[in-house]
Amino acid sequence: MEEKARRAVSRLQFTRPWTIAQAVEEISAKGGKPIKLRPVSGEKIIDDFGPEVSSVCISWKLEYIIVYSNDTPVPLQEVSIGHELGHIVFGHFSKSDTSMLFKCGFHDDHEREAEWFATHLMARADDYRTELLPSSITGRKRRILTKFVKDLGWSM
Ligand SMILES: [Zn+2]
Repeated sequence: MEEKARRAVSRLQFTRPWTIAQAVEEISAKGGKPIKLRPVSGEKIIDDFGPEVSSVCISWKLEYIIVYSNDTPVPLQEVSIGHELGHIVFGHFSKSDTSMLFKCGFHDDHEREAEWFATHLMARADDYRTELLPSSITGRKRRILTKFVKDLGWSM
């Protein structure tokens, strides 16, 4: 299960500086259905879905909506979004027009699989979060270093 998640993450493109929006966009494009992020307060999630829920993904006929709490630290928000992206990547939703998955503990294989996806996504993302060439490097120096980096086959 962990290996399946690792492979799925390795098929994604990573470019610098990495953002969760990049992953959302790519998975949207591959999945053929737009993914919309809906940040709300933690209180609203509890009101709407219950105290044990930390994020939700709803598969509508024409789009996915990921609802997550925006009053937790950003890395935690990314793990929640990454978890829901895992459900989308692995096709965990039922075939009916609308289906919904809650993140509340890892009681079944789909939940554990989605969490492995989030874990590997975050680990790989950490290598791509910063710019390889700081913006203080400009002009000719930047062009030379950019070419050098590309020749090495590295991602900017
Ligand atoms: Zn889940």
